[in-house]
Amino acid sequence: MTLLQLNELTVYYGPVRGIAGVSLEVEEGEVVALLGANGAGKSTVLKALSGLVRPLSGTISYDGRDLRSIRAHDRVRLGLVQVPEGRRIFPALTVEENLELAGFGFGDPRAKRRSRVEEVLERFPLLQPHVGKLAGMLSGGEQQILAIGRAMMAGPRLLMVDEPSLGLAPQMVEYVYELLEGIARQGTAVLLVEQNVTLAFEISRRAYVLQQGRVVLSGASADLEDDPRVVAAYLGTDRGDGDRLASETADP
Ligand code: ATP
Repeated sequence: MTLLQLNELTVYYGPVRGIAGVSLEVEEGEVVALLGANGAGKSTVLKALSGLVRPLSGTISYDGRDLRSIRAHDRVRLGLVQVPEGRRIFPALTVEENLELAGFGFGDPRAKRRSRVEEVLERFPLLQPHVGKLAGMLSGGEQQILAIGRAMMAGPRLLMVDEPSLGLAPQMVEYVYELLEGIARQGTAVLLVEQNVTLAFEISRRAYVLQQGRVVLSGASADLEDDPRVVAAYLGTDRGDGDRLASETADP
């Protein structure tokens, strides 16, 4: 069943195009990768989904609802939760406090927040020995896991993850990816923004490649894995539809 559907979504930052006419879908429990070079528009898609930027045109349907009129914090309540690039944890709070704080927004009583924290810690055993430590003292990988744990406090149906492998040691990258796979196996869909194409294809069922704010390629990850057009899109040497469309479409 389709959980998320973007239809011809366009976002501008003043005169600067973020994305133009992006359409994509995520099924329940599916891992979908959003790929592309720096500035291709990946984070803009996530920001539009989280409600941090307002689209100029196009529609976003999530669980059958039109998201445009739903405010950012209400989207989190609906299970649309983002793990931001750079983690954005609170370094001066403990691991436990970081998790508990994530539960505050829902107005749940303390006992319920506590049991959510316990659930997350059980699921993410690597955090357990660090519960009382300041989050800023954790390694980059541990902080990334904490950021994912914090997002899990909201009980997501769609987890949006921005560059989870950035700056992590290889074993940690592997661990984080196993974690994301486990999350998806238990029914949470994952929309993954990742610069590391190999990793992204490994974990995802389908992928979309963005170039200059437009989707230039999409399909099953297994098919795209060896497609030279993916590399071309990254290097900006693509001579396919994407370039043609980008240059032919007049900006508003
Ligand atoms: P990266 O991997 O570097 O984060 P990205 O694919 O996520 O890149 P976006 O950050 O979505 O790309 O950027 C898409 C376009 O929108 C780029 O041209 C970028 O310069 C522009 N852009 C993004 N954020 C802003 C902003 N706050 N103000 C102005 N332009 C912006």
